[in-house]
Amino acid sequence: MRTPNRLIADSPTTIFTVMSALAARHGAINLGQGFPDTEGPSDIVQAAADALLDGRNQYAPLTGLPELREAVARSNWRFHGLAVDPETEVVVTSGATEALAACLTALIEPGDEVVLIEPLYDCYLPMVRLLGGIPRLVQLHPPEWRLDREALAAAFGERTKLILLNSPMNPAGRVFDRDELAFIAGLVERHDCYAVCDEVYEHLIFGGARHIPLMTLPGMRERCLRIGSAGKSFSLTGWKVGYVTATAALAELVAKAHQNLTFATPPNLQRAVAFGLDKDPAYFKALASDLEAKRDLLSAGLREIGFVVLPSHGSYFVVADIRPLGFEGDDVAFCRHIATEAGVAAIPVSAFYGDGAPPRHLVRFAFCKQVGVLRTALERLSAHFAGARAAATED
Ligand code: PMP
Ligand code: GLN
Repeated sequence: MRTPNRLIADSPTTIFTVMSALAARHGAINLGQGFPDTEGPSDIVQAAADALLDGRNQYAPLTGLPELREAVARSNWRFHGLAVDPETEVVVTSGATEALAACLTALIEPGDEVVLIEPLYDCYLPMVRLLGGIPRLVQLHPPEWRLDREALAAAFGERTKLILLNSPMNPAGRVFDRDELAFIAGLVERHDCYAVCDEVYEHLIFGGARHIPLMTLPGMRERCLRIGSAGKSFSLTGWKVGYVTATAALAELVAKAHQNLTFATPPNLQRAVAFGLDKDPAYFKALASDLEAKRDLLSAGLREIGFVVLPSHGSYFVVADIRPLGFEGDDVAFCRHIATEAGVAAIPVSAFYGDGAPPRHLVRFAFCKQVGVLRTALERLSAHFAGARAAATED
């Protein structure tokens, strides 16, 4: 038989699925794949249930239900002062994943260069490559993960079509500050290109950190495609409702890509998300502060066990350095080891890198879990590593 698409055939199953399966097989607590272990707000779920029984179950309009597009526009205004036309500047997609695929499909032609920042979310590289884009990767370095301006500037060139920017960052928990964003904006303008901005964790930020959409910087309104996800903003990751905000000219292109990917997104979920986006700011504050407390609980516990815990200013995740534990093996071996031997699953950070040399001593833990679950996970890790230390001293 003829060869199928090589890029697809050669790609491994995503690390999130691999680790979740390993966790299930070994009865491990899953601090790997990033999903909350409780339901999202019951009034939003009720709104989706009501909408199902309300007789609007046929195809939604291509760019999304008007009520959701209007709610996305209002939310842009309320949180970021962005004036958005809901008619022409919003496209609803089936999750941020489809939003990414639609934005990249709308912009990339074979041979175009795409600037990406490592560590990066796992679908970015395969999507860019499938479209014939040429990745130009720039690494950030732990523990601060600050932008390496020289390296970033060097990655831009004559053939740059876009930069794909994720802030708050998965897995690093980094939130880019205004200075860094201004630097990126300068490069985008100078090279006359676009920025696809993955901002799915826009509401999940902690402490003094502030999420600033690149789109709000001077000159960026016309060049940015801003992506949000209801899954993250409402702790309903299974719903897969995303939204893109961009100028009418860009949104039209995204809609044309979207029509060939999924065409439309379930109407009951769209109606419930519209209801959710209009929630009081107190809801979004409580979401962030609840997660912040969980970040603190998990970080302190990991520190006590012996990990060096890196700062996380946003997202569902905290990254920890495993070297002080004296484990013999890399991050992948470590994650397999703790899933099977300690009963806790995590994700190796090297999975968030392309072909270059990734760090091999960092693992990502998700803290979007119930407090009791986090405590049990910490007890398991603590008991496991105390046992390992005792065995090592006996030797
Ligand atoms: N971007 C980032 C950075 C993510 O972490 C995720 C997922 N969890 C997504 C996109 C995909 O979001 P969705 O589930 O809405 O497709
Ligand atoms: N974004 C989630 C994470 O980083 C995973 C989503 C998925 O499994 N595709 O854990």
